Amino acid sequence: MELTQEALRLPAKEAPWAREVREDPRMLADIARAVGGPYHLLHPEQFGRNLREFGRALRTAGVDGKVYYGKKANKAACWLHECATADEGVDVASTQEFSDSLAHGIRGTDLMVTGAAKSTDLLWLAARHGSTVAIDALDELERAVSVARAVGSMQVLLRVLPAENPHSRFGFSPDELDRALERCIQERDHLTMRGFSFHLNGYEVAPRASLASELLDRCLAARVQGLQADAISIGGGFAVSYLEAEDWHRFLDRGTGSLFHGGKEFSHFYPYHQAPTGAEMLAAILAVPAGGRSATVGARFAQSGTRLLLEPGRALLDGAGCTVFPVQGFKPREDHGIITADGLSTSLSEQWKGSEFLPDPVLWPETGPGEPVRACVGGASCLDYDMLSWRKIPFPREPRSGDLLIYPNTAGYQMDKNESEFHQRPLPRRVVAFRADGRLQWRLDRP
Ligand SMILES: *Cc1c(COP(=O)(O)O)cnc(C)c1O
Repeated sequence: MELTQEALRLPAKEAPWAREVREDPRMLADIARAVGGPYHLLHPEQFGRNLREFGRALRTAGVDGKVYYGKKANKAACWLHECATADEGVDVASTQEFSDSLAHGIRGTDLMVTGAAKSTDLLWLAARHGSTVAIDALDELERAVSVARAVGSMQVLLRVLPAENPHSRFGFSPDELDRALERCIQERDHLTMRGFSFHLNGYEVAPRASLASELLDRCLAARVQGLQADAISIGGGFAVSYLEAEDWHRFLDRGTGSLFHGGKEFSHFYPYHQAPTGAEMLAAILAVPAGGRSATVGARFAQSGTRLLLEPGRALLDGAGCTVFPVQGFKPREDHGIITADGLSTSLSEQWKGSEFLPDPVLWPETGPGEPVRACVGGASCLDYDMLSWRKIPFPREPRSGDLLIYPNTAGYQMDKNESEFHQRPLPRRVVAFRADGRLQWRLDRP
């Protein structure tokens, strides 16, 4: 059956600012000329809105806590200013992420340090600045003890290996956790054991609620043993919806045969439509009845005076950025065309996980001469596999050199996680869109 162009579309849900930028007759082209190539367009105001929604979900449930932005999801500086002004924190995993956060106004006490086997330099920085370190292994705990003795103190959480993700390389197994707790009791003059942390794969509400509830019991037990244990970090993994349910399910139901250039097949995709998402998912976790009790998870946090910490990355960046590639050329093939973008597939990280970022890129300007076409999108390199989109995407007209291609909602992990200077090409610039004097304006993220 021949599918219509319309039935093959996967239009992205679009934030109002992104539509406004797309409808502006000059802005996108002006920036492309100024930076001379592909660029990432960022909207910190949207990030700030997402961040405040998480804070509101905590307050609505009467839970005290803090949001730590998972910094690895996007390297731009503009998000850090939003975290600072909202009085929230940042989750970092390297000395570079740590100092970048400090330099943009995050207080050391609002930094959470996660990751496997942190360097001793990073542990020392964390101790000096009063940051919280999620300890991941017994040998790391011993290094933390040495640093805490030398500096005077260190705040730690103990990261647990979730039964839900038994093969994760992160966190303490149950036996290790007992041993770690013993060491925290012995070293409590220097180590402040603030509680526990976890980070689950997947985007499910139930396992997060159930592990949080289990750790609430562990906190109460640890307090009896003289530890502070008044906080639990439930990590990140808050869901994002990129597509409307109807479009996503139509895609899933149809099967992917002949959808991709070169007969390419993918074994997995990010779930591009989900519910609940973002702060609503946090609210849903807090509303789950806790471990067969009548109280909800949220009520148990509140009643036990336990702070709920969370580390969303992707969900804070939802709707907060897009990536713009100039079109360098278009060549027709039998049943579809091939666009060459001035840019590389390293700027769309999904390809580097053996998958594809599915929301439709938008051709700009939208109107022009030529008939509707379907086309895949390749990068400006000499590699056959450097494809931004293998999918034969429907476009309203034939793209040509000088047009722009806007990949929507790319701020969460797509933009800069895997970028390299392949072919000695400079990395795409990060450009911040903001409203001032009643109009949209732009500046460089790190001039
Ligand atoms: C990556 C990571 C996060 C952020 O995950 P998202 O899926 O982007 O929300 C939070 N905490 C830890 C420990 C992580 O490794």
